[in-house]
Amino acid sequence: MTAQRPGGNRNWQTETTAVHAGEFIDPATRASSPNLVMSVTFAPERLTGFSARDEQGYEGHVYGRVSSPTVAQLEAKLAALENSEAACCYASGVAAAHALICGRLSRGDHLIIPDANYVGIAELARDTLPRFGIDVSYVDLSRPEEVVAAIRPSTRMLWLETPANPTMKLCDIALLSRLAHDRGVRDVAVDSTYSSPIGTQPLALGADFVVHSLTKYIGGHGDAMGGAVIGRRQDLESLRLEANVHFGGILSPFNAWLILRGAATLPIRMRAHEEAALKVASFLEGHPAVSRVLYPGLPSHPQHELAVRQMRNFSGMMTFQTHARGSDIAASMVSELEIIHYAVSLGHHRSLIYWIGTDDIQNSTFRHDAEQRRRYREYAGDGVFRLSVGIENAEDLITDLERVL
Ligand code: PLP
Repeated sequence: MTAQRPGGNRNWQTETTAVHAGEFIDPATRASSPNLVMSVTFAPERLTGFSARDEQGYEGHVYGRVSSPTVAQLEAKLAALENSEAACCYASGVAAAHALICGRLSRGDHLIIPDANYVGIAELARDTLPRFGIDVSYVDLSRPEEVVAAIRPSTRMLWLETPANPTMKLCDIALLSRLAHDRGVRDVAVDSTYSSPIGTQPLALGADFVVHSLTKYIGGHGDAMGGAVIGRRQDLESLRLEANVHFGGILSPFNAWLILRGAATLPIRMRAHEEAALKVASFLEGHPAVSRVLYPGLPSHPQHELAVRQMRNFSGMMTFQTHARGSDIAASMVSELEIIHYAVSLGHHRSLIYWIGTDDIQNSTFRHDAEQRRRYREYAGDGVFRLSVGIENAEDLITDLERVL
């Protein structure tokens, strides 16, 4: 039940933690790489109870929905990368968000989320949670006074996402965590997918939980979906009992094994993403066909000062807009790009680009009040290109973009 291996050595630097934390030489075979253990059931060494609650304090694994060896190795690595005590992995980033929100909130509780964040979680909050009696408020996180005004006695969770998908807006994790906690909000959760543990350490800034889509930077290769919640051991133990055991959206050991391999190179990949993204963003900013670029690493980003203060790596995510109709350019990208894939998702080693049309996203997702719709349109115009810069050669990426611009 408490199956996590030690999360590495606190004195290790990040690169060493990424490679070694959660991993160990297998005592039975002396294998140096993590084993892929697909078994769903484990023969206990002593008599254990039947309920997952009876397993509390038991060091081994009993049943795969509660814990299993390869997933536990990934959980230990993720906890170490976030300098935290524990992690729970799920089948996708959305499954992790669902586990955390529904594992922590009850009927009558109030949740504050951004007025524009990752669409899957925005739709979960808007369409699903109210059906279960959870009230949701949408705020612009870059305006702390809006967050404070939205807090009620029943507010149990503040959900942050920074940088936000797709607005590239940042929020000040330390400030908002302090404002929320001082006003009695129990949980501050940060979706840190865009930034990865290499870019931002939300728990050190005062948040209670970090959520990652492992499908993105941490897995890094676009071949395994997964998600994680990272935080204090006690909180994660109770989340495991509720969300793993009752909701059941757990990570497959095979995906955990792939993601473990990806996570080992996260620090060096993030450096490569950032280096290439800075060059591509500067190129786009200087291109006559481009009207605006939003990348936290550029001094032109409206919150560049916060980015420098809060992020140790600016990652590879940016948006840009063009003078000509974006949807027309997007149509030519589908067939004309040679290197960059015109496809959804992000954080993979290969570059990905996608047009996010404002009408589209407002009809499907950001259907809040008129003021919030106005604000989103003010930011996005008729739409934005979301570009996830991979780890290819930046000059090659620039040549590819130049062709379609
Ligand atoms: N959070 C962010 C910021 C995302 O961009 C995504 C997916 O794009 C998710 C969460 C959801 O992750 P998944 O697709 O693994 O469910």
